[in-house]
Amino acid sequence: MSYTVKEIYFTIQGEGFHTGKDAVFCRFSGCNLWSGLEKDRSKAVCNFCDTDFVGIDGENGGKYKSHTDLIKKIESCWPKNKKEKYVVFTGGEPLLQLDQKLIDALHRCDFKIAIETNGTILPPNNIDWICVSPKKNADLLLKKGDELKLVYPQEDFNPEQFESLDFTHFSIQPMDGKELQNNILKCVSYCIENPSWKLSLQTHKIIGVK
Ligand code: SF4
Repeated sequence: MSYTVKEIYFTIQGEGFHTGKDAVFCRFSGCNLWSGLEKDRSKAVCNFCDTDFVGIDGENGGKYKSHTDLIKKIESCWPKNKKEKYVVFTGGEPLLQLDQKLIDALHRCDFKIAIETNGTILPPNNIDWICVSPKKNADLLLKKGDELKLVYPQEDFNPEQFESLDFTHFSIQPMDGKELQNNILKCVSYCIENPSWKLSLQTHKIIGVK
């Protein structure tokens, strides 16, 4: 199988439970809930996306012909002085492309594997960290994992409806945009009133890294 990748780079994880963790980010191109083109945004199932996942023109982006080629590139991004190799597959929607062969081969290379998904596609087996970010107008199929991360607030899409699902951690993250400051305060109040939810901030935007 070949893989279409927007970018691959080493960074520290900016948001969610693993904020601050060393990671290679592999961003697959494409999403099933939006074309990624501004002209389609207002009609998209998901229309608050802040990520460019279109094409293959980012750092180390390209068409990778096989899982071996892709792993070689991911390996080359991992700094030699760091242990605990960790790769985060994101997008777009990573589960449009991530397959068992890639997962198994990465494990053989001692990588731990995380995904950031919208939860509309079921994953291959043995992923080490599953973070699901449900979207209001999309069917949620993936109802268990390590972290459920909800962008807040969204009209008629309340955190309570997810609390019975089988996730270990529940994170709430302020909706970016003109109302960001207000939304941060709303998230803080929500976490104070609802202790099972923890605040997730997009620290990569604050410190100015990808
Ligand atoms: S599901 Fe995720 S990647 Fe796709 S458009 Fe929404 S926020 Fe962006």
